[in-house]
Amino acid sequence: MLNGFLNLLFPQTCPVCRNPSSEHSIAPICAECWRTIRPYRGPACSRCGTPLVSDAAATCGDCLKNEPPFKRAVNFGLYDGVLRSAINLLKYRGIRRLSGPLSGMMLGIGFPDVDAVIPVPLYEKRLRQREFNQSALLAANIARHIGAALVTGCLLKIRDTPPQVGLRSRERIKNIRGAFDIRDGCRLRGRKVLLIDDVVTTGATVRECSRVLKKAGAGDIHVAALAHGMRD
Ligand SMILES: [Zn+2]
Ligand SMILES: [Zn+2]
Repeated sequence: MLNGFLNLLFPQTCPVCRNPSSEHSIAPICAECWRTIRPYRGPACSRCGTPLVSDAAATCGDCLKNEPPFKRAVNFGLYDGVLRSAINLLKYRGIRRLSGPLSGMMLGIGFPDVDAVIPVPLYEKRLRQREFNQSALLAANIARHIGAALVTGCLLKIRDTPPQVGLRSRERIKNIRGAFDIRDGCRLRGRKVLLIDDVVTTGATVRECSRVLKKAGAGDIHVAALAHGMRD
């Protein structure tokens, strides 16, 4: 009934198919389009989760050359189609309620037992502009469902970084190096961490966050992202 009432007040058009959207929890995306969102089930690196072209290699070249500081990274889907639209609506149009159904899909991945769920932080100025950290919204829902502590304000982004798009892999690592730190007095020693990001593209950010968490004494780090971006 509430749904019908809200639709009367705020009729919305699905940005994907242009049909009216009648499901408040996922609006403006309609239920038909939402149902097309699928988890990625193709070949992927067993360590960092990067989608691979073939099943032949279990571990990608990046992970072989340069072992990640995290134990394992997984992604729900690909940053494409309706999932991409939903993430952009959450992130750039501020439609926060989408974080509920989106984190619900991430829960389908299945997570190991952890002590702390930590979102990839935004730089303070960006956080003020956007008013919320989309990864923190996802992390809050996930923490509640798996019964682990949500830890925000411990891992900090202390430097703004230019967009990673268009940079080569080595430049990306240089770009992000030293951009994160741990707040004084945060006790992470021995704690198993689930690090949450919305979109992972090269993995440079989650690698750097994991490196900093490890340096602070954290135990095993698992990484989960909603979507893996396409390589440019
Ligand atoms: Zn639609
Ligand atoms: Zn890999």
